[in-house]
Amino acid sequence: MVASIKDCTVLNNNVEMPWLGLGVFKMKEGDETENAIHVALDYGYRSIDTAAIYRNEASVGRAIRNSGIPRDELFITTKVWNANQGYQSTLKAFDESRDKLQLDVIDLYLIHWPVKGKYTETWKALEKLYMDGSVRAIGLSNFLVHHILDILDICEIPPMVDQVEFHPQLRQPELHRFCVEHQIQLEAWAPLGQSRSLQNPAVVEIAEKHAKSPAQILIRWDLQLEVVTIPKSIKPERILENSQVFDFSLDSSDMERIGRLDENLRFSDDPDTFDF
Ligand code: NDP
Repeated sequence: MVASIKDCTVLNNNVEMPWLGLGVFKMKEGDETENAIHVALDYGYRSIDTAAIYRNEASVGRAIRNSGIPRDELFITTKVWNANQGYQSTLKAFDESRDKLQLDVIDLYLIHWPVKGKYTETWKALEKLYMDGSVRAIGLSNFLVHHILDILDICEIPPMVDQVEFHPQLRQPELHRFCVEHQIQLEAWAPLGQSRSLQNPAVVEIAEKHAKSPAQILIRWDLQLEVVTIPKSIKPERILENSQVFDFSLDSSDMERIGRLDENLRFSDDPDTFDF
């Protein structure tokens, strides 16, 4: 059982990745991102999830450099954006992300979305980056089972992670099972349902029962399902609150009750029909 913010899952290549990190989607480049990261690092977070398309990689880089925390204690994820998929263009996009982050090595590099006709070629570029030692782990994002099977068909190095929309209304049990069977670590984006899951009456009741907040219940639910989770907040008190999830556990009735909220409901785009 995950017992502290420093605890890590071990990926299929033996790299350790923290179970809990800070997501920085929609954080503005500059003070907003840097302040949130400083606060998070002060509270013990060691994993930051960004992407080229978030346009805040330079701020992530500045914040971690100024923190004074040794590089090997941090775990930094970024992602290749859809417009840059393809072999050479992914390698170029990676160099741009690495320059902005001012890092020699990225901990985890993901294909942001499964762009049709491109993602297998993009995977080959990620494999090259991995074999060159430019990234410690490579993975996918928004890949459904059939997309992952396409990667498994052509890969020399199987993916280590799949980061997908995941919250009580989108539990994706089959994808989760598939990932476990193939030693692919599932990672939740929108773990709070982008705020929408916080008002769910069952979640609110379970929160009251444990004297915790709805956000803490949702984060704890991910951890007990062995899903890596990266809630985003720019507010110091929420960044702290979202990290205080190691002093209680959900019991099996809580887990089942939250599990029953699944409606296969996406708050964002469907990986089979997105058009960006
Ligand atoms: P989240 O589910 O993390 O929700 C974030 C929202 O919840 C923000 O509006 C935040 O507001 C609010 N919030 C955070 N903590 C609390 C709290 N304790 N109480 C009340 N409200 C709270 O959504 P995200 O979409 O940000 O997902 C998390 C991360 O996943 C992203 O930041 C990004 O790194 C990644 N992601 C990846 C995607 C992909 O395609 N791979 C797509 C989308 C996200 P405030 O900041 O004002 O506190």
